[in-house]
Amino acid sequence: MSKPTSATSGLQKYLGVFQYTGAAATLVWETSKTLTVALAVLTIVGGLIPAGIALVGKQIIDGVLLASQTGLEADKWDAVTWVCVEGGLIMFLSGTRRGLEVCNQLLRAQLGNRVNVLILRKALDLDLVHFEDAELYDKMTRARREASSRPLALVKKSFGLVQNGISLFTYGTLLLQFSPWAVLVLSITAVPSFIAETRFAGEAFQLFRWRSPEKRKQMYLEVIVAREDYAKEVQLLGLGPTFVDRYQAIFDKLYGEDRSLTLRRGFWGYTLGLLATIALYGAYGWIALTAIAATITIGQMTMYLLVFKQGQTAFSAILSAVGGMYEDNLYLSNLYEFLDVPVSSLDGTQLQGPKPQDGLCFENVSFTYPGSTTPAISNLSLRISPGDKLALVGRNGSGKTTLIKLLTRLYTPSSGRITLDGLDLQAWDSQALRARIGVIFQDFVKYQLTVGENIGVGDIRKLKDDSAQTKAARKGMALPFIKDFEDGLQTQLGRWFTKGRELSIGQWQKVALSRALIREDANILVLDEPTSAMDAEAEAEIFDRLRSMSEGQMALLISHRFSTVRMADRIVVLEQGQVIEDGTHENLMAADGQYAALFTLQAAGYR
Ligand code: ADP
Repeated sequence: MSKPTSATSGLQKYLGVFQYTGAAATLVWETSKTLTVALAVLTIVGGLIPAGIALVGKQIIDGVLLASQTGLEADKWDAVTWVCVEGGLIMFLSGTRRGLEVCNQLLRAQLGNRVNVLILRKALDLDLVHFEDAELYDKMTRARREASSRPLALVKKSFGLVQNGISLFTYGTLLLQFSPWAVLVLSITAVPSFIAETRFAGEAFQLFRWRSPEKRKQMYLEVIVAREDYAKEVQLLGLGPTFVDRYQAIFDKLYGEDRSLTLRRGFWGYTLGLLATIALYGAYGWIALTAIAATITIGQMTMYLLVFKQGQTAFSAILSAVGGMYEDNLYLSNLYEFLDVPVSSLDGTQLQGPKPQDGLCFENVSFTYPGSTTPAISNLSLRISPGDKLALVGRNGSGKTTLIKLLTRLYTPSSGRITLDGLDLQAWDSQALRARIGVIFQDFVKYQLTVGENIGVGDIRKLKDDSAQTKAARKGMALPFIKDFEDGLQTQLGRWFTKGRELSIGQWQKVALSRALIREDANILVLDEPTSAMDAEAEAEIFDRLRSMSEGQMALLISHRFSTVRMADRIVVLEQGQVIEDGTHENLMAADGQYAALFTLQAAGYR
């Protein structure tokens, strides 16, 4: 957000920023109608009582004075009755205040959850590209940090505004009888501190916004130092102190900025607040003089003083509520900015393609990562027919993984198109499309769930299906070691939870492979270096199984192990995002191109 360049744009921005109040009110209302209504009623009642108390206070004092003059029993009881009324009102007031607190607490819990769920749901709708966009990631972090408390704060302040408004109106009416000037003084003296407050609120928000990349760095450092999967390397390399120093350095920088703002806010808050105190005591003197001149009774004097003092408090509460609402709106703008991020790839609706025998077809596909200048895939054309068992090879960075991300529609090609069964991937319903594809990525997820669930998540319908999981585990060669576990499929994996069992990387890969194989409807199987941590024998066996899979299934294997690659019916060599060779092992060796060179190099290593 840039700084406003002129007074008008500043004003526009100031007013524009209140636009989220309505949205916040809707959010609170939808979260709990009962609590919102209770909050509203208690607020209004709470606004009316204080003026009543001031009025009763006057009756007490005047009653006492009268009774002491007349000495009549009736007057005495009158005064005592008023005391009882005031006591009752005070009890009632404290009841409404407590009730407000209770409603607030309940509503806050519900609202915090609701906003977090909104944020998480939005995250589900985002494309992978979005997650790699640091700015968007910052938006999400900011939204999560603040947004859950802000809507309620905003609504509370709106109610507080109404409450104080009611009080102020009733005080004003009482005070008007004394002097319209007093009402004017009451209003004017609160304005300067309001202006200062809003200014500082805006500044605080800017700070908050600008620093979210730094906050994120801090969060990252916390993760590195405090999480088990990093602990091994951090300890061996002795990185801990360096990272903690960095963490501290970020804090020191942020603290410096914070301190300056806090000090200025404190100084101006106090100085401008003095103005109000001076006005109060000026009015005090004036009211006292009027009482001495016997123009008003002692009871009236007490009432006017109370009314003036509380009116002033109510007025400055109103102004600071407006300032606070401004601040809440600023923070909420984050939440809505994040929730409004357009989800670019509109989902298709088709459940099948027109040419089921057409297979997968890349037509002049190019793709450049956002923020990158060179394409990762450039003008690539490739057809994979049903039944093809294909190995994809190429140096690091040649575009193999990117090709797979495009094929699974995690990314959308920058130009060209990819079709499955003759239908553009973009036109497919994403569920239907993804049901057709089983994938394991190099950096597959090691879920801290049971081993059975780790396989079952491959097809969410089979999360609890032991027999399907066993079958998949057999295909993925994970069954032998799962059988050795005491709890079998119910064995908890990972170290996060009690009784968690850690697997070797090769075993994890077998679990991930079983996860890809549990999708029985999937006729495209993509394995991105799934076997790098397995021994050569296991890899060859897996590939053998892939080849013997059903006729119609397509398999795509990325591997750096040429002893396996050579078994493929078809080998595609990528270089700088393009297909440079395509054929069987024998053809490619005969062609004596890059494949032959890489193969000979690796074979030489084994001699
Ligand atoms: P391979 O799988 O063949 O090793 P990749 O497909 O991962 O290669 O990478 C192809 C190119 O795209 C490389 O130059 C890499 O630096 C770049 N690249 C990969 N992932 C990203 C990303 N998320 N953002 C930007 N560039 C990327």
